[in-house]
Amino acid sequence: MSTPKFRVAICGGGVGGLACAVALSHASNVEVDIYEAASEFAEVGAGIGVWPRTWKILSALGLAEDLGKIAMIPPNDQPRVAFHFRKGDQPEGIDFHTLVTPGGMLAFHRPDFQRVLINHLSDVTCRAFTRKRLVSYTQRTSSSYSTVTLQLEDGTTAPYDLLIAADGVKSAARRTMVQELAAAAAARGKPDVAQKLRDAGLPKWSGTLAYRATIPSERLRSLIPNHRVLETPMVYFGKNTQLTVYPIARGTLINFAAMRARYDREYTTFDEAWVKDVSKDELLGDFDQWEPEVQALFKCVDRPNRWAINTTLPLPSYTSGRVVLLGDAAHAMMPYQGAGAGQAIEDAFVLARLLIDPRTTRATLGRALRAYDAIRRPFSQRVQAASRENGLLYTLNYPGLSFDGGPAHTGARGDAEKLERIRARIQGNWEWAWETTVDADLQRALRMLDEPPDDSGMRRGAR
Ligand SMILES: Cc1cc2nc3c(=O)[nH]c(=O)nc-3n(C[C@H](O)[C@H](O)[C@H](O)COP(=O)(O)OP(=O)(O)OC[C@H]3O[C@@H](n4cnc5c(N)ncnc54)[C@H](O)[C@@H]3O)c2cc1C
Repeated sequence: MSTPKFRVAICGGGVGGLACAVALSHASNVEVDIYEAASEFAEVGAGIGVWPRTWKILSALGLAEDLGKIAMIPPNDQPRVAFHFRKGDQPEGIDFHTLVTPGGMLAFHRPDFQRVLINHLSDVTCRAFTRKRLVSYTQRTSSSYSTVTLQLEDGTTAPYDLLIAADGVKSAARRTMVQELAAAAAARGKPDVAQKLRDAGLPKWSGTLAYRATIPSERLRSLIPNHRVLETPMVYFGKNTQLTVYPIARGTLINFAAMRARYDREYTTFDEAWVKDVSKDELLGDFDQWEPEVQALFKCVDRPNRWAINTTLPLPSYTSGRVVLLGDAAHAMMPYQGAGAGQAIEDAFVLARLLIDPRTTRATLGRALRAYDAIRRPFSQRVQAASRENGLLYTLNYPGLSFDGGPAHTGARGDAEKLERIRARIQGNWEWAWETTVDADLQRALRMLDEPPDDSGMRRGAR
């Protein structure tokens, strides 16, 4: 390894942390240590969907060939069915849209996806540690340089030039960072901003529970030989409940996620275990009036995992001094655009390109972090908001577009019109994922490296 220009700690070895480490592995002079709290790198959950915007990034990272081997369908730009939309919460469902996009949505089995990332880590510049949980950090700024010191649960400490916090929705780094930003806001005489920041440190329950499982495709085939989900990713819409299912693992498994939403509980705290094995009886009652093809899917689920979907409130900065947030630690979102991991990968790519750039040195790190924040924060927060809105639409809760009957009920024609408006909103919210690329954003970020360094570290932040 050539003399490192700086040393980076990545806390969290999920999709975002690993993607960032892979992207930094493209440089020979950035030393990276990954600290993962769990005893091994293990992806939780079953399937992961990847849209063209993210796929282009994964290709730029040199992962296309290996990921192509484990994709459900070979990646290319041909128009493909990404999802078929159907209202399913009635004895006979209503087809209302086939979403066709360039390349469709690439579906992977999460453990396979993660293995590819791990295989692409540099064994020269990158070291990985497991059973190392970040508890907090401290920062030291002097006129010549700044450092961040990690405090780990096992009592050890470790100094670095930069901490990249990819420690997920419960992020310990985010908790510390909001305290720093809140202290700065309070010092500027803005106690209301400080209080808002402190509140944004902890995750909030979205009011939604996801029941996740994988179904052996053969089992479903034995019930309904030509069940459409064996070939086609499906979204089934229903009032307060919703189902997304698609084939993974080269068609041998079906990824199953059933959602139950209680929007009156949104932004409260979920007090039970966030992830738990449950009996499927817990959700059957909500789906027993649904159409037969949905009932067949439920027959194939044995013991689903129940996930409380927690999200984070928008922050006014993803960076403070020599610490930067990435992925769910920065912007945990609802899963209704299949985009949380994709946004983590996008963060990782933009941040790593800024860090690798020869204009970024230990002395000018702050400028690179500012560019990352300026470009990635607005974009990821827009995706976060759009994912929430899609959730309201998927669960037929969007104002003016619910199916509650009553005097305003307008019969089959009215229903079809509503479904068309739902379709149009969802598609409009989502087109960024297949119609745009990250290139322009990356170029804008890189141009910011020509601005004066003005490396005022922690003095900037919440306004
Ligand atoms: C039902 C559902 C379906 C989804 N479907 C999709 C999809 O199709 N496509 C998509 O793009 N996204 C999807 N997502 C979102 C996606 O799973 C997340 O956004 C993504 O995993 C976030 O990656 P991350 O690396 O930021 O965090 P995580 O994947 O949560 O990784 C964080 C890592 O940090 C470790 N860690 C935690 N705390 C510490 C600590 N203090 N110190 C050190 N390590 C720590 C954890 O053990 C973990 O390994 C879905 C989410 C859900 C709930």
